[in-house]
Amino acid sequence: MSYDPDNIFAKILRGEIPSFKVYEDDDTYCFMDIMPRSDGHCLVIPKTPCRNILDASPAQLSACMATVNKVANACMTAFNADGITLQQFSEAAGGQEVFHLHFHILPRLDGLATRPAGKMGDMEQIKAHADAITAVLAAG
Ligand code: 5GP
Repeated sequence: MSYDPDNIFAKILRGEIPSFKVYEDDDTYCFMDIMPRSDGHCLVIPKTPCRNILDASPAQLSACMATVNKVANACMTAFNADGITLQQFSEAAGGQEVFHLHFHILPRLDGLATRPAGKMGDMEQIKAHADAITAVLAAG
């Protein structure tokens, strides 16, 4: 399977589609999922192309994991979370819908189930959640 440069996340990286940015560095970009399965649900992607875990390079994976670590800790504080669920789906049979490598960060609260997939979130609330994470990151 080859990489499609017109996938949604490639368009987000090129600024052709808007996103609520949470964090970025030279190698990765983190933004809010617009169909959040928990408050603060965000996605970490490499800035360079790859479909998923199967064709990712060690450098892409390592850069993404450093960002996952940073943002997941910020989410713990921002949402007073009890834990984090980290998800990654590869290829359609694995549950992948957007074919640019991404890691889902879901802040979790004790006893609270995730919401069903595929339901559009409230954009003002998603923006507020992005702001909460960026505020924690900015505070260091
Ligand atoms: P996966 O490919 O791992 O199944 O999940 C793709 C994720 O991308 C889903 O959680 C979905 O809600 C999210 N998503 C789909 N389209 C967009 C979009 O245009 N913008 C953002 N921010 N997220 C999206």
